[in-house]
Amino acid sequence: MKKLLLIKYGELTTKKGNRNTFIKLLVRNINAILNGIDYRIQYDRVRMYIESDDIEIIISKLQKVFGIHSIVECYKVNNNMEDIQSSLVEVLKNVSFKTFKVETKRADKDFPTPSMECSRIFGGVVLKNFDCKVDVHNPDLVIKVEIRREGAFLYIREIAGIGGYPVGIQGKGLLMLSGGIDSPVAGYLSLKRGVDLECLYFESPPHTSLEAKNKVLKLASIINEYSGNIKVHVVPFTKLQEEIYKNVPESYVITIMRRMMYRIASGVVERRHLKVILNGESIGQVASQTLDSMRVINSVTNLPVIRPVACMDKLEIIDISNKIGTYETSILPYEDCCTIFLPKHPVINPELDKCLDYEKRFDYSTLVEECINNIETHVLKNEIDNDLL
Ligand code: ATP
Ligand code: MG
Repeated sequence: MKKLLLIKYGELTTKKGNRNTFIKLLVRNINAILNGIDYRIQYDRVRMYIESDDIEIIISKLQKVFGIHSIVECYKVNNNMEDIQSSLVEVLKNVSFKTFKVETKRADKDFPTPSMECSRIFGGVVLKNFDCKVDVHNPDLVIKVEIRREGAFLYIREIAGIGGYPVGIQGKGLLMLSGGIDSPVAGYLSLKRGVDLECLYFESPPHTSLEAKNKVLKLASIINEYSGNIKVHVVPFTKLQEEIYKNVPESYVITIMRRMMYRIASGVVERRHLKVILNGESIGQVASQTLDSMRVINSVTNLPVIRPVACMDKLEIIDISNKIGTYETSILPYEDCCTIFLPKHPVINPELDKCLDYEKRFDYSTLVEECINNIETHVLKNEIDNDLL
């Protein structure tokens, strides 16, 4: 008897033409995430099997791989009635259940016993050996037996995967990652749609601290569990930010600062051959995220700006943040460049003409260029980096 994991593909099965690309990428991502573990993987267009002695570790890792609908613990046994029955008893010793049903499928039509008859016989064996009842409507346990030419497969425990598309299927975007709650969630949701990420963080030392930066790197390392591939670019933003505060009326500083962030992000997207900008903006959350503000800020770039949490309530965002494990880090009280020198009355319906006027007062394009040229890039470890904070 051989213990295996059956991997059921997620949403990708609906995309017929791209199926091979999807599956190859999924396999690449699984290989990356299981690096260091001893296992064997086999797959075709319909299913994938993983064989290993470290099944439990593998299950926990696979629960962070997008593109997997579910993971089924299964056993491959010889395809004769005796072996199937004895294996069934063996396997079920480790499972707790009060009610069950058996479903048999014969892919090998030459197998002598019909499917219904198989289910009846296997059910009888279970009833005889365990203290339990049959319940065809709402059983604790569904035992699936699939009889194929190469062997019989017993499927016992089905564990939900996280769905989505394999990370990277859409190429890469640039996530504006702050230390807040929203942007890590935006990153997670982007990865779920198959967009791999590089992250961009604006720091303004000495106004922002090393802890603030490490917090962002820690958040990136948590979402990197879903990618394995994330880099973080840290932009030295101090000089540009100070020039803004010197030259721009207080109510417009955030608007102008965010236009500069978008300009820098666009420059990084072009240089690194990424596809889009992504961020954690949510409609109406703060002055710079009203629709009027978004229009004026967004107008500095032609790139698509994807805002995965744009239409979510804060509580919905917090829910996801808890689920993916970023919340506790996000609420640590380190300052961000957006929260230092926060104006008392930031404009909520900025005018583009005024922005253009204020921006003429200083040579921002040289400063933007400098920011991009002096980026410091961090390649993350392949596990959550707890040494950071
Ligand atoms: P919170 O969860 O507290 O709202 P936030 O990160 O969403 O934090 P906002 O001021 O709402 O902070 O900023 C909106 C978006 O702008 C962020 O989600 C993030 O994508 C981007 N952003 C803000 N500050 C930075 C920064 N220092 N570096 C990179 N991106 C930033
Ligand atoms: Mg926010």
